[in-house]
Amino acid sequence: MKPAPFDYVRADSVEEAVSVLAEHGDEARVLAGGQSLMPMLNMRLVRPEVLVDIGGLPELAHIEDEGDTVAVGAAVTQGDLADWPELGTALPVVAAALPHVGHFQTRNRGTVCGSICHADPSSELPLCLALLGGEVELHSAHGVRTVPADEFQRGVLTTAKEPDELAVRARLPKAQDGERFAFLEFQHRHGDFAVVAVAAKRSGDSVSLAVGGVADRPEVCRWDTLPGDAVEDALNDLAWTLGGGDDIHATARHRRQLVRHLGKRAIDATAADGAGA
Ligand SMILES: Cc1cc2nc3c(=O)[nH]c(=O)nc-3n(C[C@H](O)[C@H](O)[C@H](O)COP(=O)(O)OP(=O)(O)OC[C@H]3O[C@@H](n4cnc5c(N)ncnc54)[C@H](O)[C@@H]3O)c2cc1C
Repeated sequence: MKPAPFDYVRADSVEEAVSVLAEHGDEARVLAGGQSLMPMLNMRLVRPEVLVDIGGLPELAHIEDEGDTVAVGAAVTQGDLADWPELGTALPVVAAALPHVGHFQTRNRGTVCGSICHADPSSELPLCLALLGGEVELHSAHGVRTVPADEFQRGVLTTAKEPDELAVRARLPKAQDGERFAFLEFQHRHGDFAVVAVAAKRSGDSVSLAVGGVADRPEVCRWDTLPGDAVEDALNDLAWTLGGGDDIHATARHRRQLVRHLGKRAIDATAADGAGA
């Protein structure tokens, strides 16, 4: 199938992109890497009147080390971030997750912010944003606001972003001394979306686990202390709390088992003697 007709604006600045979004509201869509939007257009799941292409905007193509955070501009592709020399030190969990995001061909076009805005519950990058407690900076004709990760994704393909807002950058907190991370996922074939993905962080006694692919958004559970003999019970409780249903990829029962199994391996990997990311 081919998309319904649409107008195309190649924005020359953030200001121009935001002004087109203000003019067309619900009828406009931002085009970043097109790796999710183009299939949706072709299947006519969305029929915007106008596409605002931000992919070539140099002002959005930066990865900036801001001290405690890394700011990833909206034109930075997943491949650009994977190639960033500081990635393994600054954002080890993102470094571990990125190879699981589609294929290198899709990572060469797909952007980090596009994945976060698309808000697929199985996506790896929103999961990392949730685990790290990052934020998304949104610009519109009304001004600038910053939305924390736990308020940004609201459900399946649904976020707090209004139709006239452009996500200009995502901010991801950098790893601190002593923090350890792990990322694991189960997928049917390499490059497929995860059936279940988990990302873990250990900081002192506290352990956080983000789970994707089960609920309608990434969910983060944090334990102030989690002794080794309590991990399995804690994960069993979490698996039942998250819910998740049957679909063509897995049954709810299989998903619960993946939460227990991947969760345990990830948490163990963040222990001092484990193989953390
Ligand atoms: C074969 C294949 C396999 C894939 N496998 C995976 C996978 O395993 N894991 C995974 O996470 N993803 C996967 N993807 C999706 C891929 O990661 C996309 O790149 C990503 O979801 C969207 O990024 P994009 O830059 O291409 O955004 P686009 O497709 O251009 O846009 C996606 C949506 O976000 C909106 N949007 C994008 N950027 C902004 C912005 N700056 N401000 C406001 N709104 C914005 C668009 O309007 C649109 O609604 C796969 C894609 C393909 C084609």
